[in-house]
Amino acid sequence: MQANFKAQLECMDCKQEYDINEIIFRCPRCNGLLDVRHNLNALKTYTSEYWKHLFDNRFRMEYPFSSGVWGKKEWVLPELKNHNIVSLGEGATPLVPLPQYAKELKLNELWIKQCGISHTGSFKDLGMTVLVSHVKQLIELGKPIKAISCASTGDTSAALAAYASFANIPVIIFLPQNKISLAQLIQPISNGAIVLSLETDFDGCMEIVQEVTLDKESGIYLANSMNPLRIEGQKTVGIEVIQQLRWNKPDWFIIPGGNLGNVSALVEGFVLLKETGIINSIPKVAVAQSSKANPLYRSYLNKFQTFEPVKAQTTLASAIQIGNPVSYKRAKRALEISNGVVEEASEDELANMAAYIDKMGMFLDPHTAVAMVALKKLKDKNIIKNNESVVIISTAHGLKFTEFKVNYHKNQLNEVQAKFKNEPILLPPDIKKVKEVIKQKLQL
Ligand SMILES: *Cc1c(COP(=O)(O)O)cnc(C)c1O
Ligand SMILES: [Zn+2]
Repeated sequence: MQANFKAQLECMDCKQEYDINEIIFRCPRCNGLLDVRHNLNALKTYTSEYWKHLFDNRFRMEYPFSSGVWGKKEWVLPELKNHNIVSLGEGATPLVPLPQYAKELKLNELWIKQCGISHTGSFKDLGMTVLVSHVKQLIELGKPIKAISCASTGDTSAALAAYASFANIPVIIFLPQNKISLAQLIQPISNGAIVLSLETDFDGCMEIVQEVTLDKESGIYLANSMNPLRIEGQKTVGIEVIQQLRWNKPDWFIIPGGNLGNVSALVEGFVLLKETGIINSIPKVAVAQSSKANPLYRSYLNKFQTFEPVKAQTTLASAIQIGNPVSYKRAKRALEISNGVVEEASEDELANMAAYIDKMGMFLDPHTAVAMVALKKLKDKNIIKNNESVVIISTAHGLKFTEFKVNYHKNQLNEVQAKFKNEPILLPPDIKKVKEVIKQKLQL
C-alpha cells in the first residue's frame, strides 16, 4: 500500500490546518477544538472491497494488527511507525445479541457491543492506545515530553496509566475525590501513576489539567479527549460493529455521553465508512445522559439553540458525571450528521434497568444501563420503531462497579427502589433445610 495516507490537525471553527506532530490541544489562532483530518482522496483510491478484505484479514490475528484499532491503522494514524504502536490488545470485543429483550421491545435485532471486555475494562482503551503511541513517536522525534496527564471520572485515568506505563512514560492523573469506584482508583495506583486526588468534581479537575498542560514549558502532554488523537482510536468502535455485522449497518446506535468525545468519534467512524463506499448512509445515533448531568439533553430540547453547562449532581453513572462537556460542539455536529437524538435516565431508572438486564445474563455497568433506559424510552415514544435494529455501546465492564451492584441488591441506593433485589439466602449446612429452600424457590 503506497498511497499518500496522511492525517493532520484542523481547527473545527476556523479550519486552519496544523501538522499532526504539533503539540497543541486547541487552535492557537481561535481557541477552537481540533480534529484529525485524513487524506480522504488517498483512502478512496482503494475500493470498499479492498478495505473490508484488509480489515477482515487482520481481525484478531497477529499482534499488533490484531487490535481492533491497529487493524485499521491506515484510517487511524497512518504515519505512525509500527515500532511505536503501544497496544494492549484493545478492541475486537464481542458483539452479543440480546434476543429476550429484543423480543420484548419488538425490535428486529438488539446487540450489545461489549467494549468493557478490554485490558482496563472500558472503551477508553481504544483512544488511549492511539494517544500513547503518538506520544511515543513524538518523544522519538525529540519533542520535550516528560509525562502524560489527564483529568478523569475513572476510566480515562485507568487506561492512560496502563498504556503509558507499558510504554515506560510517566503519568500524572487528576481525580475528583470520592467520585470514582474503588476498582477505578486502584488501577492507576497499581500502574505506578502519580495520582492527585482533588477536592473538586471532574469539571474542576479538567480546568486544572488544562492549565497545567497549556503551559508549554511544562513538558506535560494532555490525554483528555479534547485532544483529537483520542477520538481517532475511539472512532473504530462503530466501524468494528459494522464489520462484525458483515459490513451491514443497524438502524440505531445508542451511546452514553459525558464529555461527549465518544459520540463524535462514533459518527466520524461512520463518515469514513460512507466516504469509502462501505455503507451508503449514516446510522442514527442516540446519546444517553444521566438526568443528574444532562447539559446535552437540555440543549437538545431547545434544538441546540443554546448550551448551558450545569453543575453535575452525584449520579450512579459516575463516569458521565460531567456538567461542562469539552466536546459539546463536536457532539452537536455529530448529531446533526447522524440525525441523532438525546435521552436521559434517572437514578431509579438506570439502576432497575441494570438489574433487569442482568437477569438475562448481562452485568451492566451504570452507564450502559443509562443507554438501555434511553432505548426503552425512545421505543416507547416511537422514535425507535418496531422491527428496527439497535446496537447499544456498552462502555465499561460491570465488575468496575461492584459497589453499585452490591448496594442495589441491599436496596441501599439513594433515590432507587430496587425492584429486582436478589439477596443471598443464609443457611446452616443442613441438607434438609437446603432441599426445602430449593423446593420453595423453584416452586416444585
Ligand atoms: C468516558 C465514558 C463515557 C462517556 O464518554 P464521553 O466521551 O466522555 O462522552 C461513558 N461511559 C463510560 C464507562 C466512560 O468511561
Ligand atoms: Zn481556529
